[in-house]
Amino acid sequence: MDYRIGTRGSKLALVQANGVKSRLAAAYPGDTFEIVVVTTHGDRVTDRPIAELGGGAFAHELERALLSGEVDLAVHSMKDLAVTLPDGLVLAKAWTRGDPRDALVCRAPAKSLADLPSGAVVATGSPRRAALLRRMRPDLVFTGIRGNVDTRLRKLFEPGPDEPRLDALVLAAAGLKRLGREDVISEYLDPSVVIPAANQGQVAIELRACDAELKAKIDALGDDHAEAVATAEREFLREAGADCHLPIGAFAEFRDGRFTLHCVSGPAEGPVTVEHRTAGEVTLVGAGPGDPELVTVKGLNAIRAAEVLVYDRLVSSELVGAAPASCERIYVGKESGRHSLPQDEINALLLAKAISGRRVVRLKGGDPFVFGRGGEEMAYLLEHGVECRAIPGVTSAVAGPAAFGIPVTHRGVANGFEVVTAHAKNDEPLALDYARMLDVSRTYVFLMGLARVREIASGLVSAGRAATTPAAVVSAATMPEAKCAEGTLADIGDRSQAAGCASPAILVVGDVVSLRGRLGFPCAGRRFLVPVIEGGSRRIPGLLRALGGEVDERIVGRIVRIDGALSPADLEGVDRIVLTSENGRLGLTDEILAVVRAKGIRVERVREVKPDVRTLHLTQPDAPRVSGVRHIDVYRNDPVPIEGEVDLSRYDAALFACASSVERIFAAAHGSTRCAAIGARTHAALERQGVEDIVTAAEPTAESLVRACAL
Ligand code: SAH
Repeated sequence: MDYRIGTRGSKLALVQANGVKSRLAAAYPGDTFEIVVVTTHGDRVTDRPIAELGGGAFAHELERALLSGEVDLAVHSMKDLAVTLPDGLVLAKAWTRGDPRDALVCRAPAKSLADLPSGAVVATGSPRRAALLRRMRPDLVFTGIRGNVDTRLRKLFEPGPDEPRLDALVLAAAGLKRLGREDVISEYLDPSVVIPAANQGQVAIELRACDAELKAKIDALGDDHAEAVATAEREFLREAGADCHLPIGAFAEFRDGRFTLHCVSGPAEGPVTVEHRTAGEVTLVGAGPGDPELVTVKGLNAIRAAEVLVYDRLVSSELVGAAPASCERIYVGKESGRHSLPQDEINALLLAKAISGRRVVRLKGGDPFVFGRGGEEMAYLLEHGVECRAIPGVTSAVAGPAAFGIPVTHRGVANGFEVVTAHAKNDEPLALDYARMLDVSRTYVFLMGLARVREIASGLVSAGRAATTPAAVVSAATMPEAKCAEGTLADIGDRSQAAGCASPAILVVGDVVSLRGRLGFPCAGRRFLVPVIEGGSRRIPGLLRALGGEVDERIVGRIVRIDGALSPADLEGVDRIVLTSENGRLGLTDEILAVVRAKGIRVERVREVKPDVRTLHLTQPDAPRVSGVRHIDVYRNDPVPIEGEVDLSRYDAALFACASSVERIFAAAHGSTRCAAIGARTHAALERQGVEDIVTAAEPTAESLVRACAL
């Protein structure tokens, strides 16, 4: 391929771009690389201080050239880039960084900052350098300066007749070195004191996000450490509200095996704040198999204290939502087939977030160390001096089968179990040693193998395992769409397909599968239809699943607040508000709550509304009215069209918690099954649909409804 490398035309920029070019050319001899000079706004306007030109003054034209296809990659000094790149552009992984320090260049006889006499004039265009140096030497005079490195050196050493006399300059050491002018440096300033600009000394290579092939080539020459440091320093810029008028800088220092982020920020004038942050800790947390209640207490506490949460696909939204509102949430999981962050980018991300001083939680499905690459992430972080600990999780390898009443061991049936990965690249056959999986006293649990169920089953049979060996596929165990197919090695492939098992799924092979339904899971093997309301309670499906049942939840409605239904005037003379559903709380807007609190009105959840003039019932239009009580409709249950058809004969029972759900389900249903009603109104609605086999809950509760038809 021919690639065009865009760069600014300054001597320094050209040196950098040529450096990138020669490294790429050496690594990829089959490609050609050509330098294209693009003039930037920052180069054209030379009569104003850089800080006045706005962020990205040197970058915009290069980015435009990238987006228009004029160039394929752009080489920048990373510190010139705005923290947020234009849509469609990305940075390649950072290469090894140059010298990050600022350097002092003095006019003889001074040789260092300490040598400069009181009142000496130090030139720098950067508010940050001036502010930090002023902290050390308040007696010096700071003045602005512009121009390229050669111009600045000339202004110091050979000022023209009209130019002010300068005693010293501050410049980036990396620039002087790249230009071969290291000789003029009098003193390297300690970067933990004179904190450099974020990303100082770092070359950035920017390219189009869609150029995956080119990115892979550049990334291959990247450096983990430089990438993490570059990201961490940019993070600080984002946090401090990057603006080159302000004295902002960040330098991630790695010393004695630990990172410290030195950072400075402050107002345009006046004193700056300097901080030295030690790296934050990373906690790997096992989220459990899916049901958010199956996280450990310790894991949940860690999530609640997270400042950054990096999570995978199989993690429930409830757990992601349990982090504080201010927590930054980053999704790195992959939808099958779609792009996800490669592991080394996840590692670099975790490291960067930790270096930026934040408490990071890495939330993974199941247990972090069971096919979760938790060990790799931990090793990487420890190697880079970041503290890392792991909080175990309930692994799906054990909890998945258990959710359907299959114990992985059972005395006299299986005396051990083995967890096997059935993951393979694309279409290659699995490299499983079936001959080692013939022990009839063991349970074999295959993860990541839904697409390979038939291949594994026939592999085991060919190796000598009986075709009658019990086998099950459990899919989305402990999640709302949980399913289980049970059979033998001979037919489990077909059965899993017929049951509609979908990823994530586990194949369990062994005699323990036949214990299913016999071990305190009275609903194992039974399917239930439960109409649910979006945003409403999911208690009934939860109870059924806990009993080992499979539940098909169908959304039939959506709860919508009726705005303005309740006004503060309605609370006149009220001393008790009652709700017959949690949805009634939708009426309690902030404005209403303020009045409720001020008047000391009680808010209570009740099963039944009793007549009382001082009671107000917050409810919905379809609810029954009780005379002698004031009802106000504060929400509606709007119908949601049912997806697909409903074949009732596929279910052992259907459970209805309200009359409107009966009407909505039956509008799309055929066949018949036993139906359970939560109360008299729902019972009547079922009768109207011609249902004959109806059971009614003894009390209007989810528990009672489940008991009525499932136990
Ligand atoms: N660390 C995880 C496993 C990660 S590998 C753990 O300990 O559970 C991902 C595989 O786990 C999936 O392909 C699937 O085989 C299995 N898996 C995860 N959650 C599951 C669930 N709720 N039901 C069935 N299988 C699940």
